[in-house]
Order: sequence, then C-alpha cells, then structure tokens
Amino acid sequence: MLGSIHFHHLARQQIQMSSNKFSKVIDDAQRYIEQQSDLFGNVMYADAVKREAATPAAQVSLEPEPWMQEKSLSGLQKEICECLKCPLGQTRTKFVFGVGNPKAKVMFVGEAPGADEDKQGEPFVGRAGQLLNKIIEAVGMKREDVYICNILKCRPPNNREPLPSEMELCTPYLSKQIELVKPQFIICLGRTSAQWLLQTQESLTALRGKFHDYHGTKLVVTYHPAALLRNPNWKRPAWDDMKMFKKSYDEING
Ligand code: URA
Repeated sequence: MLGSIHFHHLARQQIQMSSNKFSKVIDDAQRYIEQQSDLFGNVMYADAVKREAATPAAQVSLEPEPWMQEKSLSGLQKEICECLKCPLGQTRTKFVFGVGNPKAKVMFVGEAPGADEDKQGEPFVGRAGQLLNKIIEAVGMKREDVYICNILKCRPPNNREPLPSEMELCTPYLSKQIELVKPQFIICLGRTSAQWLLQTQESLTALRGKFHDYHGTKLVVTYHPAALLRNPNWKRPAWDDMKMFKKSYDEING
C-alpha cells in the first residue's frame, strides 16, 4: 500500500515536472518565433501574403489623376485624404498623411498607422512614436526637422501587416511625397517598409548596415521602434544604424 502511494506521488511529481518543462518549451518557442519574426519576417504569414493576389498592374490606374499635378504637400494631402481606393478607406478613422518639414533632408518611412495614429491622423504618435522621437533626438535632430510617414496612409484592422495590394495602391502617394520633399536620406523603419521599397525578400539583418539606392536617394534600413520596445537589446544595433546614417549626413551637409 505504502509502495503504491509512493508510486502515485512520484508519478504526480513526474507529470508536474514534465508539464513545467513543457510550458517552458512553449514559452521559449513563442519568444523565439517573435524574435525571428521581427528579424527575418514571419515566414508563415509571408506565405499567406504571397497567396493574396497582388493587384495586377493593369488594374492600377495609369490615368492621370488631379493629385499627381500637386506642387505642395498640403495640396497633395487635400487631394488624397478622402481616398477609397482600397478597403482600408472604409474602416479608417483618419487618413494619416505624414508630418514634418516639407523640405526635410531625412524622411522616415514606417509601415502603417496604428490605433493612436488612426485616432489622431498623425504618424508615430503612440509609444513607438515616442521612441522614434528619442532616436531622432539622439542624432541631434528634432521631430519637426525631419519628415515622417508610412507606406500605408490608413490603419489595417487589428494592426495586421499591410497586404501587397494595399501597398501597391498606396505607394504612388508615398512616391509623390518623396518627389515633393526630395529628401537626401530615406530611413526605413522595419522589415515591411524596407522590403517593399527595395522590392526584395531579403531579411532585415541582411538589409541593415549599408546604404541602398532608392531611385537616386540614399536609403537606410533599421529596426522598427515597436520592435525595439519589445526587444531592448536591439537598441544598440539600431544606434549603429543611426550613427552610420549621421556620419554620411554630416559629410554631405558639413
Ligand atoms: N507603426 C508604424 O509603422 N507607423 C506608425 O505611424 C505607427 C506605428
């Protein structure tokens, strides 16, 4: 009898230990997947995105539209702020055009508005935005000196990643912003923005640490501030990216 109680006790202990180990494995796996997704992209999601039919080029209007002739950012904003080209126009609270110095030498490009941005109509105003402000200040600049915008001007529901079709329809607006601001540098915040602008599947790791060319403009890739909030140990390499950018900026601007 005693032997049997002892056996049951041991068995329960074993089960408890295995279940502790199991939940640790699950925790580790979850942390690993989050890190990999921030660094290299969410492979499973990317596959799903690939299956979404990107709007065939033929469906993107090639007809001249009034906004294309705009000579100022404010004029452009007025022309496009009621856009309903993709379904995100139906669900947005506010159109998030972009903010900053219309003659900025540096343009930061994020992914898409989040909940705070959707409410306020301004990019990077939430927690990630506060960190972006600190990053800008760390290189001796102010938020008002630079220009800040996103690939998408409207918030995707539940902060899901932008779909290729949405990015395809919205990118002409970003191209026009770049044409009007004429920045010397574009700084891509995160993988989605970098991969889309550079039209590559290369990982964030592969894209960081060097200058790319975006139609004649120097383009730098760094972590998204939201990723830095989740993984503070990436702040050091992000600082390296900003130092690389600032060195080149100072060489050009004296
Ligand atoms: N994340 C982005 O990519 N853009 C914003 O404007 C806010 C959060």
